[in-house]
Amino acid sequence: MKKTARRGLVVLLLVAVVLGGLGFLAFKFAVNGEKWATLRANLHLTEDGSFVAAGNITDRNGEILAQTKDNERVYNDSERVRRSVLHIIGDTEGYISSGVQTAYKTQLTGYNPITGLYSLKRYGRGNDIKLTLDSKVCATAYDALNGRKGVVAAYNYKTGEILCSVSSPNYDIRNKPSEETIQKNENGKYDGLYMNRLIDGLYTPGSTFKIITTASVIENKADISEWQFECNGETVIDGVKITCPDKHGVMNFEEAFTKSCNCAYAALTDEIGKNALTKTAKEFGFSKEFSFGNAYTDASVFDLSDAERGDVAWAGVGQYTTLVNPYHMLTVLGCVANNGNAVLPYVVSNVTSPDGKILKEATAVTESRITADVANTLKTMMRKNVENNYGDGNFKGLEMCGKTGTAEVADGVKPHSWFVGFSANENCPVAIVVVVENGGWGSSAALPVASTVMNEVFKSLS
Ligand SMILES: [Zn+2]
Repeated sequence: MKKTARRGLVVLLLVAVVLGGLGFLAFKFAVNGEKWATLRANLHLTEDGSFVAAGNITDRNGEILAQTKDNERVYNDSERVRRSVLHIIGDTEGYISSGVQTAYKTQLTGYNPITGLYSLKRYGRGNDIKLTLDSKVCATAYDALNGRKGVVAAYNYKTGEILCSVSSPNYDIRNKPSEETIQKNENGKYDGLYMNRLIDGLYTPGSTFKIITTASVIENKADISEWQFECNGETVIDGVKITCPDKHGVMNFEEAFTKSCNCAYAALTDEIGKNALTKTAKEFGFSKEFSFGNAYTDASVFDLSDAERGDVAWAGVGQYTTLVNPYHMLTVLGCVANNGNAVLPYVVSNVTSPDGKILKEATAVTESRITADVANTLKTMMRKNVENNYGDGNFKGLEMCGKTGTAEVADGVKPHSWFVGFSANENCPVAIVVVVENGGWGSSAALPVASTVMNEVFKSLS
């Protein structure tokens, strides 16, 4: 009996060792299988890289943005399109880490963790990816930026589809400058070249932040409809001087928004206080990273923990230490446009196998942020701002709502120029963010870009 028991134990131990070993292997496989299969040295997949059999990347209309032909990765014929979509498509070396060709490498190359290189074995090529982008609109935005640094992004605030996303500087993927030239970076020409400014950019918002302050005032000040203010060009709060470019005179709340009066907004911010403004900023998604494909956005920064009253007043007009991520700004606009509910923007529509089977499809994610009442009051104010200030001629038929921003970044440096807004025309439910870095006034640099791009969007949707 004893002998049998001992033998039984030995067998059990052996079984345990074998199973343990298998477990270890399975674990290693699950962790590293993807890496092993897409290693450059794996000749089953590739001769000189992982992309020789990768699938197509197309825009929303089926326009091919990237494909593999005769073992070469080739891109759209138009240089304008290639440059405009560079940061979304990404490169094959992974410098642009959030690009689809890096973030969705396994899907594109057809790797399946259960069956190995399933798609390749079966079809000889990887899966296809369809984007929500409209490459024509992207090319128009690229032209409108005209070589200036910055970002242009537009999305459908009902569905979440990103129609346009252009980050500048960029390069032509067919004719990439040498790494040496990029590193040299003469005159700052290649500052943040590999960074997709839509998701990794952080900018001082300037007056575009008045959208958040306005929401906070509506939420926290009961008698706002009777409120009046006289602007003499400057005001002092707790020893800190707040200035306006002009004397705006006497105005009510709506007029203060349209005139973008810093003094009025400083006074209002001082009245509601830093806790109220911080609470509203949080409701709008500040400090939050948003998932973007297989990457994450940078979180917008709003921190008044060490702020004195004068700092808080400056924060209310969009200066102080506040920084806004353009993707996040799209969600702020989407929230105002859509009764307080922000549909989060995305760019990958679906992944399909070479025989047309949908393997993965985007689903919209919605965040409820503010009440419909607050959202609609804001929307009315932003609509009047375009009607009375920038002019509907810039956005014909779009029932555009918007706000410009001129964000001071440093002494002796031109401010960042912003335009943020959305169309209230239900046939064109699209929001747009434009930042022209060191572009000067919001109305002179970013506004014309937004006008050109929104008119192209309207054309493409009608
Ligand atoms: Zn003023």
